[in-house]
Amino acid sequence: MNRRNMLRSSTATLGGVVGGTLAAGCVSVTAGSGAKTLFEVPITTIPIVGSSEVYPVRRIYCIGRNYAAHAREMGSDPTREPPFFFQKPTDAIQYVAPGTTGNHPYPPLTKNYHYEVELVAALKTGGRNIPMDKALDHVFGYAVGLDMTRRDLQRFMGDQKKPWEIGKSFDMSAPIGPLHPVSQVGHFTKGAISLSVNGQVKQSADLSYMMWSVAEQIAQLSAAFELKPGDIIYSGTPENVGPVVKGDVMLARIAGLPDLSVKVV
Ligand code: MN
Repeated sequence: MNRRNMLRSSTATLGGVVGGTLAAGCVSVTAGSGAKTLFEVPITTIPIVGSSEVYPVRRIYCIGRNYAAHAREMGSDPTREPPFFFQKPTDAIQYVAPGTTGNHPYPPLTKNYHYEVELVAALKTGGRNIPMDKALDHVFGYAVGLDMTRRDLQRFMGDQKKPWEIGKSFDMSAPIGPLHPVSQVGHFTKGAISLSVNGQVKQSADLSYMMWSVAEQIAQLSAAFELKPGDIIYSGTPENVGPVVKGDVMLARIAGLPDLSVKVV
């Protein structure tokens, strides 16, 4: 294998975790050394509607308590305090194709496993301190997502003032549908968002009820982190989160996007 092919093959498997940068759209692995990786680490990608290309995921950011009624049900004051963020590991993504029902394993350690339907925004460009009026220019597209949560573990850790990670950032905790480019669907600032379980509506709200819009989330996040292409943002869930058990089928729905159907197995 010549050096060019070796670089290309490491790029495909490692996703540019280390090293310099090539031209836009490419990532480089230890540019200059050409070192072979010890083993292959698959990159996480999300299909793009109407394209043969896929979207590579760099980071998954999630915003907490972004709908007033959900903030109240979680026991906090829904005044417009700055949004807070957490992350899920990139490989927590579980892609589910429209028209199919994805099998989603009930995770270990929990007895109170909750759905949270959310609009997901995917960035094509990034930066630091992005002004709000430029923020949406960075969005590549949108998808329907579920921020699955081991609520008992989240609460248990929160009560002890310990990190929530075990409640939020576990394997397959981020089911998602395909990405829809902004060029085809525009931006989502309003419209119905809902989740039903076994045909019964549980969550039902409107994207316009978000306390912090996607543009504001990007502006705030970019003050704390340098955002980059491949970063996706789960934008928070409305009220009436609740539990699922094995056998339940969740249908997540946002007006203008195909439904996301997931069965707990
Ligand atoms: Mn959430």
